[in-house]
Amino acid sequence: ASMVRLSGIAKIFQSKDGTPVAALDGIDLDIPHGGITAIVGPSGAGKSSLLRAVNMLERPDAGRVVVDGTDLTMLDEPALRRVRQSIGMIFQHFNLLANRTVAGNVALSLELAGWNRDRIGPRVAELLALVGLTEKAGQYPAALSGGQKQRVGIARALAPSPRLLLCDEATSALDPETTRQILALIRRINRELGLTVLLITHEMGVVREVADQVVVLEAGRIIEQGPVATVFAHP
Ligand code: ADP
Ligand code: ADP
Repeated sequence: ASMVRLSGIAKIFQSKDGTPVAALDGIDLDIPHGGITAIVGPSGAGKSSLLRAVNMLERPDAGRVVVDGTDLTMLDEPALRRVRQSIGMIFQHFNLLANRTVAGNVALSLELAGWNRDRIGPRVAELLALVGLTEKAGQYPAALSGGQKQRVGIARALAPSPRLLLCDEATSALDPETTRQILALIRRINRELGLTVLLITHEMGVVREVADQVVVLEAGRIIEQGPVATVFAHP
């Protein structure tokens, strides 16, 4: 069984002059359990729309989204919010709350999920240790470097123990050395926690460094997919 199975996904937007634009135009895609899959393609290819279809942040106009055996297109919003607990997401610009500490940011998703206070503290401490930020627990995001902010983002995403991690241009705001460190962390949690990772990026270096499988999108369609070495082998 697949971690993610997309079939016949279409997403249509109205452009400014009123003509419809197919951001996604019939996407069929299987993401196996346990790997790191990169979705690449030029700006406007539909990468962001595809990622946001997987957790239904944007509801597709057609098709099925099945995550870990559950058809998300059949669910109402309250049920979707519960399912999203098992789908972590990290962002290019981190999306941290400026008025909460590092620990407070990581605790937030657990508070929203109704976790008991007594369980939140130890879980936050465990997550901060995992991403190497134990010393920063009481700091506010403004005091952190970009790489540290993304580590908070990763800890927050992992807090409810998701099976799937979605990464939206997660290293695009970082310098090359910090990018390598964050990619190494993503690879480590993929291996150690058995987490399936689906990422979008416009950086080929990211794909070569971290991905097992690559999917090439163009104008809302998949034009190529396979192991990284195979897809990038030809001239
Ligand atoms: P990518 O992430 O590869 O840059 P997107 O998924 O963001 O691609 O966009 C795919 C296409 O859909 C583009 O033509 C974009 O302009 C269009 N699009 C995306 N979101 C919207 C929106 N909210 N309203 C109108 N058009 C959109
Ligand atoms: P904020 O002021 O940013 O809202 P809080 O101090 O309320 O942050 O902490 C939010 C949560 O993080 C609490 O549930 C607490 O259990 C946990 N927490 C706070 N400090 C630490 C720490 N040093 N290590 C681990 N967990 C912590």
